[in-house]
Amino acid sequence: MAIVNPLPSATDGHRRLRLDSPVDQQCVGELDISSKDDVDQAISRARAAQTAWAARPVKERAAIVRSAVDELVARRDEIIATLQAETGKPRAEALAIEIVPACDFLNHWSSRAHRDLRDERRKVHGYIRPLKKLRIHYQPLGVVGVITPWNAPFVLSLNPVVQALLAGNGVVLKPSEMTPRSAEWAVRILHAAGVPEDLVQVVHGDGETGAALVDGEVDKISFTGSVPTGRTIAARSAQRLIPCTLELGGKDAMIVCADADLERAANGAVYLSMFNTGQVCLSVERIYVADEVADEFVRLVREKAAAISYGAGDKDMGPLFSDKQLDVVTRHVRDAGEKGATIAVGGERGSAEGLYFQPTVVVGAAHDMDIMREETFGPVAAIMRVRDDEEAVRRANDSAYGLGGSVFTKSTRRAREIAARLTTGSVVHNDAAVIYGVAEAPFGGRKDSGLGQVNGTDALRGFTHPQPLLLSRWPLKKENIWYPYTPSVVRNLDSLVRYGFGNRIVRRFLS
Ligand code: NAD
Repeated sequence: MAIVNPLPSATDGHRRLRLDSPVDQQCVGELDISSKDDVDQAISRARAAQTAWAARPVKERAAIVRSAVDELVARRDEIIATLQAETGKPRAEALAIEIVPACDFLNHWSSRAHRDLRDERRKVHGYIRPLKKLRIHYQPLGVVGVITPWNAPFVLSLNPVVQALLAGNGVVLKPSEMTPRSAEWAVRILHAAGVPEDLVQVVHGDGETGAALVDGEVDKISFTGSVPTGRTIAARSAQRLIPCTLELGGKDAMIVCADADLERAANGAVYLSMFNTGQVCLSVERIYVADEVADEFVRLVREKAAAISYGAGDKDMGPLFSDKQLDVVTRHVRDAGEKGATIAVGGERGSAEGLYFQPTVVVGAAHDMDIMREETFGPVAAIMRVRDDEEAVRRANDSAYGLGGSVFTKSTRRAREIAARLTTGSVVHNDAAVIYGVAEAPFGGRKDSGLGQVNGTDALRGFTHPQPLLLSRWPLKKENIWYPYTPSVVRNLDSLVRYGFGNRIVRRFLS
């Protein structure tokens, strides 16, 4: 339902939207927008339900959440049908990008949660150790607002919602107004599994509804979306002094070294630039290929891109999901052509009625072109030749974004050396994008690509406050340094400094 048009407001005053399919631009649904009041009420209901949920042991919460896997498996065809109606993505992509990772996240987080969230004993150091014991309690935050985009609307909603719930929170989800029904499924399967209705709810709408959620009485915002919206949310969260995680856009570079397996690199370049019609935050958006293998690499990429089928039905590639996206991709390709690049394959809109864009290969791309600087989010492999690894790293880092990156080389050592110099949140060897599906990896962006992690133990714990509890070892009537400040208090403290920290050998035992 990617093309969004306003409708006259409903009689009760709610704003309404009409949603048209990107496949044929026919109306596929209408959406009532939640008002600020609706949002506030949803937050209050979630808060009321959260207390009882947080009181349940993590294992119990996890058992309920885990049974949503059964719902997901049983209802996958309905979910895929909704995804296809809203986005036109091929069934293979609905499965690979949405359903499989969603099953995996549900299964993984619900199996791990009790280990990652149980109270933890931590050793304290030095002179404190004989006196105190430290425990960490992962305390739920309360109610989390989750705001999500349209490019992978089911899994990008489900993943943060599941983590927040397992951590003991209530959740209010505000999905993209362009793909509301796909995101609703994330909450529907959780309700069907036994998660209380009030504990996790969906509110619908555009930026205005999102802003109402951020300004409401939520205790954290988990946001996935564009850089400008991310900045707005960071500023509003700062005003309210609540934490936020921001998973934002990317302009990921793929580096093809001179020793790369060119067949794999070319297959990867085409697939990783174009799957989900290029609308993936971790898509390959720029390709830097070593001069000495560039001719052969370009030949292979052209050949493989030209073989991609696209259009309605289950072809290799579906449409762009929104009319705005079609404008951006068209503008970037045109700008590249005008500034001297060769449009070696495609480069045009692919159909009059749907939002299709031809699989496109741009050769001779350069850094003064939009296609190498702004997020394109379309089915374009943009290729630039570089002298060596040194130039590839310099070019890759020459970006406002820092989400992911990839290195194609037969040498793991070379991949590690290059990765260590890339200023990106993650790097993948001989592949790309797949890092999001590896739940253990602390995935998150650098520079304009975001703040905080959405996967890994820190992400799950990020939905809690790690509360340190310091326990006294001895039932003393008072500590040594409490009043009164006798001469012996001063002497003891001074001795600690002088003979403890002042002595290099003793100092080691105090660390
Ligand atoms: P967007 O920023 O336009 O919208 C994202 C969500 O924010 C939507 O639900 C939208 O309604 C809401 N929103 C808009 N204005 C708001 C405001 N002022 N306050 C609160 N909420 C508001 O982004 P999009 O176009 O839906 O998504 C595409 C972008 O998302 C791309 O840049 C893409 O790279 C990025 N993305 C990032 C990741 C990641 O993990 N890093 C994953 C997927 C998509």
